[in-house]
Parts: sequence; C-alpha cells; structure tokens
Amino acid sequence: MSRPIVAIVGRPNVGKSTLFNSLAGEKISIVKDYPGVTRDRIYADVTWLNYQFTMIDTGGIEMDTKDIMLSHMRQQAEIAIETADVIMFLVDVKQGLVDADFKVADMLRKSHKPVVLVVNKVDNFEKYMPDVYEFYNLGIGDPYPISASSKIGLGDMLDEVTSHFNKSLATEEEDERPRIAIVGKPNAGKSSIINKLLGEERVIVSDIAGTTRDAIDTAVKWNGKEYVFIDTAGLRRKSRIKEELERYSIVRTVAAVEKADLVLLVIDATEGVTEQDAKIAGIAHERGKGIIICVNKWDLIEKDNKTVAKYTDEIRRILSFMPYAQIMFISAKTGQRLPKVFETIETVIQYQNLRIATGVLNEIVTEAVAMQQPPSDKGKRLKIFYVTQVSVKPPTFVIFVNDKELMHFSYTRYLENRIRDAFGFTGTSLRFITRERK
Ligand code: GDP
Ligand code: GDP
Repeated sequence: MSRPIVAIVGRPNVGKSTLFNSLAGEKISIVKDYPGVTRDRIYADVTWLNYQFTMIDTGGIEMDTKDIMLSHMRQQAEIAIETADVIMFLVDVKQGLVDADFKVADMLRKSHKPVVLVVNKVDNFEKYMPDVYEFYNLGIGDPYPISASSKIGLGDMLDEVTSHFNKSLATEEEDERPRIAIVGKPNAGKSSIINKLLGEERVIVSDIAGTTRDAIDTAVKWNGKEYVFIDTAGLRRKSRIKEELERYSIVRTVAAVEKADLVLLVIDATEGVTEQDAKIAGIAHERGKGIIICVNKWDLIEKDNKTVAKYTDEIRRILSFMPYAQIMFISAKTGQRLPKVFETIETVIQYQNLRIATGVLNEIVTEAVAMQQPPSDKGKRLKIFYVTQVSVKPPTFVIFVNDKELMHFSYTRYLENRIRDAFGFTGTSLRFITRERK
C-alpha cells in the first residue's frame, strides 16, 4: 500500500526544518546509509497513531530578497500541489503575515488539495493565541497553533493532517491496476521508453527549458491487462540554482516511487550508475517496491562478449543492497528488448504478490537450518520454531525464535537466500521480522 505524502510549504525561517526534525528526527537518523548513498533531509517517514506517511520538505534554499522569495515559494507550492495528498502551510506567529503568504494561500486554495494551516512558534498558547487568530485572514481554514521546537500542539495538528488521508487512500485502493514509476536522471531516456512502450507519441518529449506540466499517469494495455505508468520525465523546471533543481527532481521521484508498485530505474549506459541513480534505487528498496533496472542506450555501447558481465558487475557492486533487482539492457531508440520489459514487469508484480504456504516455507527453512547451524552466543543457540509469511508487497516473513538477540543479520540473509533459491522473488525485496516465542 502506498503511503500518503504530506508536503510542508513555508517561508524561510518559519521552522520547517525544526518541525521536520520534531516529527521524524530519530526516524531519519536510523535509516541505514547505503554505500554511495547520502541521504538528504528532503523526505522522512512519520508515524502517528496508526498512520504512516511520507513527509517532504519542498523548500530548501534560503533567499531573502523579496522577489526571489515569492517565486521560490510559488515553486514550493506548485511542487506540493503536484505531489502531495495533504499540504501543510507553515507560518510563523512572530513574523506575522506578509504579502507572499496571501499569494501562496491563494494558490493552495485554488488547488483544491487538503491544506492544513499551521502556525509555528506559539511557545506560549495563552500569550500568543490572539495573534494566531490573525491567520484566519488567509482564508484557508482554521490555524493550528504549534511550537515545533517545544513539540507543543503537534497531536492536534497531526490529527487534522491524518483526517484527510482516508479519502485519497480509498480511491487509490479501488484501482487495482499495477502502477509503474519510470525514474532516473534527466536524459536517461525515460520519455523515450514510455513513448516506445505506448507505441505512439503520447508523451511529449520536450527539451524546452522551463516547460512545466502536471504529472501524467498513462494507462497502457498489454496482453489484455492495464498498467498505469507514472511519468517523472516531463517536468523540467526553470531554475538557475542547481541544488533547487535537484531537490525538485528528488521530491518528484519520491512521490512517484511512493505511489508505485514497481519502479523502472532507467540508467544511461553511456554514463553508468551515478550517485543519483543509487539514491533513487535506495528509496525504492526502502519502500519495498518491485524494481527493474533498465540500462538504456545500449545501442551506443561498443560491445564484446564481456560487456554485459562488466556492466552487471558494476551495477551489482554499486547497488549491493539490492542484489534481487532485475537488470535489462535496452534501447529506446532501436526498441531492443523493450517487449521483454512488459514481461519482466508482469513477473516482478507476481513475485511482489506471491504468498508461500507456511508448510512449504517451513520445509525450506528446516532444510536450511540443517545445512547451516543457526548462530549461538555464550553457549546458547538460536532456535527457529517456524516462519510464516504475513503480507505481500513486499513479501514479509515473521521468524519465530527462542531469543531475538541471537539472530544475526548474516543468518537472516542466509535464510533469505535459501527462500529465494526455492521461490525466486526476482525483482522484489523481502522483509524479515524476528519475534520471540516463549
Ligand atoms: P526553516 O527555514 O523554515 O526550515 O526554519 P528553521 O526550522 O531552520 O527555524 C528557523 C528558526 O526558528 C530557528 O532558529 C529555530 O530554532 C526557530 N524555531 C523553530 N521552531 C520554533 C518554535 O516553535 N519556537 C521558537 N521560539 N523558535 C522556533
Ligand atoms: P528523459 O529526460 O529521461 O525523459 O530522456 P529522453 O527520453 O528525453 O531522452 C534524452 C535523449 O536521449 C534524447 O535525445 C533521446 O533521443 C536520447 N535517447 C533516449 N533513449 C535512447 C536510446 O536508447 N539510444 C540512443 N542512442 N538515444 C536515446
């Protein structure tokens, strides 16, 4: 199931980073760093009661001259409107209202997206409440007073944010068509691939700097079944600032991956795997999405009988956290192996949804345990009682053991490999949860 996306929009210094950290602080730091993958504080997972959502901070750069700030805020708001299920508009009780706030509020109101107006730095409710009422003038509903730094008022604010989730999720859940995000660096060939897959020029390939358009979801029929492609290619925003462009591209990618069942990561064969590719792959991995790596522009590569192996090794080395990913060598230009892409998509989707009966699973695990003894510590040996699959997308298994502390990462990996040997699970990550049974 995809998590809702909540975007924060607000002027510099209103407290976006502080709120971000208050809601997700520890969550961000415990996320594993993959080799070659640096994590940006652009998005984070937030858990509130029974809700889980992805929070994105659409604004990163501080710009103080008035004109630039307004245009920057407009861009933030556009991105939020485009990608988020709920938008948090953060203002500062101490700075009060400025012209730019009204302009952004107008944009948000017109978008018809759920907006939660959050008034920050209300460190003392009694003292500042009269000032909070000022914000009704924005015309986007009730202001929610908080103090991001003292973590006051966050509960009511989150109740309001999450109250908007059910609606958007319900409609999404009704749609059972597999959703595929095509992601990758600009110019890797995403639009070209979509066009070729569609068999017609329905996605506009445009190189005009500054053209913006809404995210386009395209339904495609293959073998009588419909698939929805989420295209992140179209958007080429005008910005002179490199960091800002990169941020937008990451925000869009996170949103696309979040909404997808499966990710087609397009790599430019002439460039190899870049750091940005690794970042995107990391997001797909964390989210447990199906993944297919398409090495595109294969027509441009001079090949001998070692080229495929060389490329495969390189990808496996850099993306070592996802050895299960399918790798395909394709050309959007010549159409080489593109028909195979649909077949592979179908295979990966089936594996994402595969359920293994507990009996069969435990035969494999029992055999695996007999082949390689579980780890022990201070004379106590790990005992595995049984394993059961509890969910799909990604397939998730619970391992019941005598003592959780005795379970090693390497032993879980060993069991995972035996399960993969038996059942495949190509293109999907697997999750393992260890539980104690007394
Ligand atoms: P951003 O630019 O919107 O990301 O803002 P920051 O999170 O960097 O915060 C700007 C300044 O406001 C920092 O000095 C924070 O310590 C301060 N700040 C953030 N939240 C609060 C709050 O709830 N109360 C007070 N008094 N200060 C805050
Ligand atoms: P996007 O930014 O990822 O959507 O990339 P585009 O689809 O716009 O492609 C960027 C450039 O690479 C265009 O000039 C394409 O014609 C070219 N291109 C895309 N795929 C291939 C391919 O398989 N082979 C070759 N030779 N060029 C390609």
